[in-house]
Amino acid sequence: MVAVVSDYLPHQNPCAQCGKPIATPVWFEDEPRRTWYLWQCAHCGYQFEAVAFFSEAAGKPGAIAA
Ligand SMILES: [Zn+2]
Repeated sequence: MVAVVSDYLPHQNPCAQCGKPIATPVWFEDEPRRTWYLWQCAHCGYQFEAVAFFSEAAGKPGAIAA
């Protein structure tokens, strides 16, 4: 369903608790103008979410009804 583009995924994000780099998010969800990522630290087990916002979704400028 979701096309995974390697450049699109952040990686080596530092753990919000212990600071160890996390290779890849364990889960992510694409929305039209943002992507949610769930990170889980293999070192301390801490889980946290991060969201990436995109100023303009490709192909749909201004097409989102509020
Ligand atoms: Zn950690």
